Amino acid sequence: AEAFNAAVAAGKPLNAFLVETPEHALAAADEADRGRASAEFRPLSGVPLGIKDLFCTAGYQTTAASHILEGFVPTYESTITAKLFGAGAGMLGKLNLDQFAMGSSNETSYYGNVISPWRRKDGGNAALAPGGSSGGSSAAVAARMAPGATGTDTGGSIRQPAAFTGISGIKPTYGRCSRWGVVAFASSLDQAGPMARDVRDCAILLEAMSGFDPKDSTSLDLPVPQWEAGLSADLRGKKVGIPKEYRVEGMPPEIEALWQQGIAWARDAGAEIVEVSLPHTRYALPTYYIIAPAEASSNLARYDGVRYGERELPDHANLQEMYAATRAAGFGPEVKRRILIGTYVLSAGFYDAYYTKAQKVRALIARDFEQAFQQCDVLLTPTAPSAAFALGEKSADPLAMYLNDVFTVPASLAGLPAMSVPAGLDAQGLPLGLQIIGKPLDEQGVLNAGL
Ligand code: GLN
Repeated sequence: AEAFNAAVAAGKPLNAFLVETPEHALAAADEADRGRASAEFRPLSGVPLGIKDLFCTAGYQTTAASHILEGFVPTYESTITAKLFGAGAGMLGKLNLDQFAMGSSNETSYYGNVISPWRRKDGGNAALAPGGSSGGSSAAVAARMAPGATGTDTGGSIRQPAAFTGISGIKPTYGRCSRWGVVAFASSLDQAGPMARDVRDCAILLEAMSGFDPKDSTSLDLPVPQWEAGLSADLRGKKVGIPKEYRVEGMPPEIEALWQQGIAWARDAGAEIVEVSLPHTRYALPTYYIIAPAEASSNLARYDGVRYGERELPDHANLQEMYAATRAAGFGPEVKRRILIGTYVLSAGFYDAYYTKAQKVRALIARDFEQAFQQCDVLLTPTAPSAAFALGEKSADPLAMYLNDVFTVPASLAGLPAMSVPAGLDAQGLPLGLQIIGKPLDEQGVLNAGL
């Protein structure tokens, strides 16, 4: 309540937008008006979108919600925002997020946490987390401040915030959306995707965002399917797999009930339900929290006070001192924690014990999915082990925070398309999400099951 009131007093009730860019959205709207009756008019003409502040936008500050990138104005446009704007969309503003996309509650932002527009029924005006890291995106779409937003998902950052705020979000197959111009967190996991009110809007946005990009060496050179035209809620002949290892200890009964509800819906839509096994599920979280920090520590080496943004100690005695002072002041505590973990697991003495081992387990997790998909077309699981928690509830305990990613990281490690769709409310009236995980490149199957 304190945070909420302070935010309201400051005229920023949700703190979802770091920068507002109405002129950009208006220009797109004007152009849409002019082209309305012509062939120039496209599905995204004039649609005002929120852009997660991890996407470089030419001429507009891009901070990754960090202090170290404060004042950084890219001279170039990320491939994804270029595609969206090229398809006629405009930008309402840059959206808040967890610093460098590291977090599950949006509390690691240098610019203050985002506040979910949802409240618990039992009063207590406790401000709730909008999820993370795409918390500005989820809050803005849930509060109807934008019809859609871009998100990025390294270990769940599109899906978990979508679940916490009652909206839809899809992370496509790794390589569908170009990473070029998106501030890097963990490059072998990072994937962009759309967040919107429903599955159809996600399909439309994802079509505009996807496609081969020679500037990203991991981009898939494949045509973009017409996902929206292919939408069908009919699941006859499809098999929906229920991975038994996702029934984790201590899962609240409401989440279990939600899952059963999802199973019933899939059956009603004509699907056959099969139980499948993903035996290495319990290793996914520790594997992710080795690989993601390892890659992050390497990616974040570039923030040295020379090339981008913030520089501390302008009259430093030597270069080393300037680096250290800049990085000490420029990175928040969670980012520093990741850099420390990452450099530790990559260090000569521990590389094999942690990093190499984690890569091997990652391969086993991917193989689990391959085997499960021999028995089913999509997997159905809860998106997160709880509804939105209160701001501050987990921020002092990184492990409790990391545990929130238990259902989302496996699909990230395997590079699979995965989506969260709103599936109902808990006893407190808070939204819960169901996750659908698909075979590589089968975004259509995921979208259809979500519809
Ligand atoms: N919560 C996870 C993390 O902090 C995932 C974040 C993300 O997907 N960007 O690493």
